[in-house]
Formats: sequence, structure tokens, C-alpha cells
Amino acid sequence: MSAARAITISEQLIQRIVPDVAGVPLHVVQPKVMVGSVLAGFVHDRLCPIMRPELEAAGQWRGEGWTIAADIDHIFARDIPDSTAERLAVGLILHEAAHLLVSAAAPPADKPAPNSEPADDIAAFVAESQRALSDESPARIPAAFWGHGDRFTRVCCHLYFRYISGGNYRLYPKDLIFGNAYPTLDLLSDPGKYAWLLWDELGANRYCAFREIVPATLPEAFALQWQADASRVFDSALAARAAA
Ligand SMILES: [Zn+2]
Repeated sequence: MSAARAITISEQLIQRIVPDVAGVPLHVVQPKVMVGSVLAGFVHDRLCPIMRPELEAAGQWRGEGWTIAADIDHIFARDIPDSTAERLAVGLILHEAAHLLVSAAAPPADKPAPNSEPADDIAAFVAESQRALSDESPARIPAAFWGHGDRFTRVCCHLYFRYISGGNYRLYPKDLIFGNAYPTLDLLSDPGKYAWLLWDELGANRYCAFREIVPATLPEAFALQWQADASRVFDSALAARAAA
């Protein structure tokens, strides 16, 4: 097993379980600058053209499409069995795919403004992201909370369900790094709990495109749990601010 194999498996898996990428070239890349950085993975509007020369040189360019950056080498460098590393790598890549799917399905008004950070300089982008993510004080809502909300969580649950119901069970909900499995978001619920609350929807909509799932009204039980969890995050920040 290897990092390259984990990337190939993930690309094939996403093509199989995500109808939205049918016919769209998909690249999972490992920018060297990311290895061992705080940023385990990211997606970015300009990542595809930025990575094009490297992909072309490696004979891996498939055309303009969806591109995911993930620090797979760092996972395989850890002192863990290769099978575990592969599971974590697939989970990380699915996590980044969830970001792409939420962003692609958001109505234009909800899309974040195009990133004005140095678009052609991945090193600068990674450094800036590291700075933003490590700039945490107890009195603030964790920066990661805003990018990993209820719709992102729902997409992660769907990806997890589609993965395991496709016959490959070597993956846990927490491997997709959402809910309280995300560092700094320990006040959210366990990923398995979110998946359980969505279980009927996961089965009923397992072949649906994510562009239909993302904007749909959230099931009530899941929405209530998310509201309670988000309140906990906000209340904690307020309490920390009052105590400061
Ligand atoms: Zn994320």
C-alpha cells in the first residue's frame, strides 16, 4: 500500500459514489509544501490551474475539473499500519470532497467571495491558512466551525454511508474528520451520532446527486441536534469571553 494507491482508490471511489462528478475530471494532489503543515487538506478555486504543470509533467493531467489537495504523504509517514494510513487518507480526501460538494451546490449568494489570497502561490496560501487556524483564543468561536457546519456534516454522513454500503467497510464516520472528530470542534457531537440521525435519508437518497441533497431542508432530528450543538459552541465562547 502506498500514498499513490490511496489517492487512486479515493479518485475511483468519488467517481463511483458522487454522481455530481460524472464526466468531470478529478485530481487528488499532494503539494510538497503541505507535507507536515497544520493544513491536512484543502480545496481552492484556483487549485486546478495551479497544479496543472505538475500534473502534466507527471502525465496525470485529465483536464480542468475538481481538484483536492491532501497531505497523504504525512499520513503514511506516521508510525501506523499501512492499512490504517490508507483508511485515514481516504477519509481525509472524502472530507475535502465534502467541501467541494457543499460549495458547488450553494446558491450564488451563499458562495464565499473568490479567495483573494495569493492564488498562484500555494506556499503562501498554506502559511496564511495555518496562521488563521492556529489563531485561537478560548473566547472565540473556533475558526473551523464556520467551514464545517450542518450542511457539510450532512454531506460527510452521505459520503460515509455510500462508502460503507458500496461494500467496503474499512472506514469509520470519524475518519472523515467531522463533528467532534475535527480538532477544535470537540463541543460538536460524535460523527456516528450525526450519521445515525440521518440514517433514513442516507439510505433513501444514496443515489441522489449532492446538488439536490445540499439545499434540501434538513431532517428535523438532525437539525435539532445541530442547533443544540451549535448553541454549546456559542455559549462556551460567550462564557469564556465573560470570564476573560
Ligand atoms: Zn475541512
